[in-house]
Amino acid sequence: MREHTFGPELGFATRAVHVGNDVDRDSGAIKRPITMANSYELPYDPTDMNWSSAGGNLYTRNGGVNQRYLQERIAALEGGEDCVVLASGVAALSGLFFSLLEQGDHVVFSSVTYIAVYRLLNELFNGKFGVETTLVDTSDPANVEAALRPNTRLIHIETPGNPTLSVSDIRAIADIAHRHGALLSVDNTFASPYNQRPLELGADFSVESLTKYINGHGDAMGGAIVGKTEYLDRVRAQAQVNLGGIISPFNAWLIMRGSATLPLRMKAHNENALAIARWLEGQPGVRFVAYPGLESHPGHAVAKRQMVPGFGGVLAFGLTGDHDTHNRFVSHLNVITSAVSLGHDESLIVFLGENDERQYLFPEEFHEGFFRLSVGIEDVEDLIADLRQALIATGLAEPEN
Ligand SMILES: *Cc1c(COP(=O)(O)O)cnc(C)c1O
Repeated sequence: MREHTFGPELGFATRAVHVGNDVDRDSGAIKRPITMANSYELPYDPTDMNWSSAGGNLYTRNGGVNQRYLQERIAALEGGEDCVVLASGVAALSGLFFSLLEQGDHVVFSSVTYIAVYRLLNELFNGKFGVETTLVDTSDPANVEAALRPNTRLIHIETPGNPTLSVSDIRAIADIAHRHGALLSVDNTFASPYNQRPLELGADFSVESLTKYINGHGDAMGGAIVGKTEYLDRVRAQAQVNLGGIISPFNAWLIMRGSATLPLRMKAHNENALAIARWLEGQPGVRFVAYPGLESHPGHAVAKRQMVPGFGGVLAFGLTGDHDTHNRFVSHLNVITSAVSLGHDESLIVFLGENDERQYLFPEEFHEGFFRLSVGIEDVEDLIADLRQALIATGLAEPEN
């Protein structure tokens, strides 16, 4: 049987379809099957095996074949040497932090991040493990530089950041990190590797929730860390084998299947989100719109440099009116679903009220409550019509005659 090889010279869309897939040697099927078995046959004399190894086929927590196929694909899309795929985006983030950090190390991280990062670095790692942590607004690289200490081991940024869409300059912060002997990890979930590849911009790790754009269909969870084998071997040994954050073979297979259409879906997400952001900006009941693709976004210039070809599918916006008006607006939406998560085929909206504990870290306009909208791949006219009729029904826009 012919071995297919897919190198880095191939385009992004070709890699998204082919890397990690091949003809199944057993059946000749042109899609690799799901291998659900927990265990693999042992050699004649197994007594000198390392039961904690993440190397060959032993036990699925030590590594499964569907996990491996998906790792090849994600590494190829992010342009990295190696990849570890785990059970969720949070398993990937906590796994990286757990494997990399020692007592007495210092971490600088973005003040706008996924909530679990805030919990991990602002409460758990410092409280339980004696890791020093400093939260700064990383949209200005000078804040990062000023926060560094001799023991700073890691800088962790999220760009665009969840939920305010703040943008941080990956290349500038990578330079700062490396001048001070620290490592840089970037949460790339909002952009996806179609729009942004942190490793090419100098980051040491790109971390992402595969639950979002990579799977893209809202029906499986996973997370990935892409970077050098030297570090990822530690993640495999510690976070995968010994903490047990392994992905299920079925989820790995689903994400593999979803990822083949990532470039097509991202193109639609980018176009739809930009059109909706521009439309929302012109509506009288809309207080503000935050989307890196808008000229009005404070991070637009940096985003234009590091997010190519587009700015992703997530935006945030605020409406006039009170708390109940905001809930009523969401209740009138028909095509757009009120639910957490993002990067699904369907559009999802979340009303984030006035009482978020991290509000003091967000820009002023976010303090009165705001919405995070993950724009899906539906027809954009239908999405705009849905938003318009909900604004009218809520009394925030005039009906058109
Ligand atoms: C959703 C999300 C995560 C967490 O991923 P899970 O797969 O839900 O664990 C991490 N970072 C960002 C930016 C996210 O949006």
